[in-house]
Amino acid sequence: MKHIVRFASIALVIFAVVFSHYYSSQHVYASTVQEVDLRSSNYPDTYLDGYKGIYDRAVTTSSTITSYRLHFLRIATATNDRVSVSSSYNTTTQEAGTIYLSQSGYVTDVWTPWITGSAYVNLITTNDGNVSTGFVIDKIEYNGTSSPLVNSAAFYPNSFSSVSNLSVYQSSSVSTYGYTSFVNNGLNILDIITNANIGFTPSTSSTAQVQISANNSTGLDYFALTQPYSSSGSPISSVDTTTWSYATVVFNNAVMNSWGFSTDNKQKTVTHELGHVLSLKHQDNIDVNSIMKVGKLTITSPSSTDISNLQYRW
Ligand SMILES: [Zn+2]
Repeated sequence: MKHIVRFASIALVIFAVVFSHYYSSQHVYASTVQEVDLRSSNYPDTYLDGYKGIYDRAVTTSSTITSYRLHFLRIATATNDRVSVSSSYNTTTQEAGTIYLSQSGYVTDVWTPWITGSAYVNLITTNDGNVSTGFVIDKIEYNGTSSPLVNSAAFYPNSFSSVSNLSVYQSSSVSTYGYTSFVNNGLNILDIITNANIGFTPSTSSTAQVQISANNSTGLDYFALTQPYSSSGSPISSVDTTTWSYATVVFNNAVMNSWGFSTDNKQKTVTHELGHVLSLKHQDNIDVNSIMKVGKLTITSPSSTDISNLQYRW
């Protein structure tokens, strides 16, 4: 994944991320619904013809989730293409998986049956010249208890030595593309967490500890990136233990707009990247409620899990 070096919020080729809202009151059983973002590749563009497997999306949940079902916001396919959910990543099980749309068409608001264990969502396409927009899964409903990464497990093995007074430089590009208020909101949300020594100070120096910019490049396949550097100016990977000297954060306005990002979606992305600045890792299990989930989500501030993790670390 791109995260070998860069902590991408969401490359279009990767994917995976919440909500402070629970829908459990809508259900008789004590199940929980979380917002998720699982799409076929290339969304919202057309997909390539004649592929099987390339559009698979693995669904991973906490081991303490006993069963779950997924909600398709929509499914769109061309002739002879289909969307299915299967239990493993191979052609046979994909072909045999529960099929949700097997003919050219467009459907919305489809729940899968209840699932146990991991699952793969497959977009199977035939080489007939027809392309369409694939699928979007926007919710998971689950039984059992979500178990997020907590304490040290929620963090990279590297970070700033202290985040109590990080200097923050915002390039003029942040304002140009309309991200100033998102950045200031995100910084403030993290700054005011109690019992955590987190602080940000605006700086006019482009060599500040946190250097934030924005671009409008449709050709780049990320919503946002955070990249820490060592004192020698070398990029620090997510697995090494080097102390950070400074970090760059980049927001890609064009790609967010092309995916139809709302104000909340953009605020989520900005706050998420600032979470990376504080060394938080992604929460990959899709049942987890966290600003550190990947994807186009409407959570805009750290969840209680995120806050307790930040209090633990800082
Ligand atoms: Zn991220």
